[in-house]
Amino acid sequence: MKNLCILGCTGSIGVSTLRVVAQFPDKFRVRSMTAGSNIRQLAEQVHAVKPDRVAIADKEKIPEFKALLNGWKGEILGGVDGLVELAEEKQSDYVVTAIVGAAGLVPTLAALKKGKQVGIANKEPLVMAGPLMLAAAKSSGSTILPIDSEHSAVFQSARAGAEKEIRKIILTASGGPFRTATKEMMLKATKESALKHPTWSMGAKITIDSATLMNKALEIIEAHFLFNVPYEAIEVWVHPQSIVHALVEFSDSSVVAQLGLPDMRLPIQYALTYPERLDGALPPLPLDKMASLTFEAPDRQRFPTLDFAYDAGKRGGTAPAVLNAANEQAVALFLDGRITFCGIFDLVGKALASHKVQPVEKLETVLEADAWARRFVRETCQ
Ligand code: NDP
Repeated sequence: MKNLCILGCTGSIGVSTLRVVAQFPDKFRVRSMTAGSNIRQLAEQVHAVKPDRVAIADKEKIPEFKALLNGWKGEILGGVDGLVELAEEKQSDYVVTAIVGAAGLVPTLAALKKGKQVGIANKEPLVMAGPLMLAAAKSSGSTILPIDSEHSAVFQSARAGAEKEIRKIILTASGGPFRTATKEMMLKATKESALKHPTWSMGAKITIDSATLMNKALEIIEAHFLFNVPYEAIEVWVHPQSIVHALVEFSDSSVVAQLGLPDMRLPIQYALTYPERLDGALPPLPLDKMASLTFEAPDRQRFPTLDFAYDAGKRGGTAPAVLNAANEQAVALFLDGRITFCGIFDLVGKALASHKVQPVEKLETVLEADAWARRFVRETCQ
């Protein structure tokens, strides 16, 4: 029986994680769960799941949350400290990181420092502070298991050979809603059109990141840290069907790929049950219904985000944190109707070009770079 802490249980990944966990009551128990501010959904989940402890990032919501509880007698914590306490307490063996964005950094690092098994969906902390997270995992003996579907696919495919035999990692991208759009159409893109993902159903921030290909950009850096491969050996191909999640090319030119329906329950389940595979709820892949699986090179002119990632990744230090924070801030401004869709590319590019990279030896340096990039984007767009 694994005792789980789910960070970000009210989001898309959090809900899918609870669905997976519900299938295996003899394997998993939810010891604790956290939300940002959606107390209604958290209250419903608490009644269904009955964890021992919960944390709400927005402390002010705790009194209102208490009024929604109907007989549940568990403990309620608040703020970042509350999230950290649940991520590191000894009663949990396994932490699922499903918070969106940089807000997941501090609790994820806390779990890694305490030697937990950590299933990572929340890629932004790894992008911001990869070296710190890997060092924390190494010194505590923590295991990191990828939940992002592409990285789960790399992880699964890489088991076909030795690490030193990997020549190349190929991440696939659906291409998002603007895969075939002209530059002119992208200049006029609305929030509604950008939020219409062709194959995946996800939270708003990652859906916009999929439309700009920033999600794939972040995944390039995520793959570099998770699999210890140089940036030159990580490629992105657009695969609109979202069936082949990633491919690994080995030194003998053999390519091993992982295929599956675009449903996050599959990589979540694998990360939770690894190294076992259990019978799950997903139907088999209907090969007869797949007329073709296609791959095309991404358009790096229309989607400069991929080059931003290679550039930030190779510069290293605080550059990936700036890429991530500038993007988070720009996406928030776009969702608020304050900048255009292509304004995201513009602001992230300017932030990266203006940043003086610092080496990352401590968390404070990462947090300062994050704050600098957010401020830069806000001030530049005024
Ligand atoms: P959602 O927006 O659906 O959910 C985000 C979660 O984070 C919610 O539980 C939310 O709480 C919580 N949260 C938001 N802000 C804070 C905060 N400041 N402090 C603490 N908790 C907070 O996101 P997704 O589930 O789509 O994505 C989660 C992560 O997983 C992202 O990093 C994303 O890139 C990654 N991912 C997602 C995939 C997907 O299919 N959705 C696929 C692969 C990776 P509340 O609801 O209460 O506000």
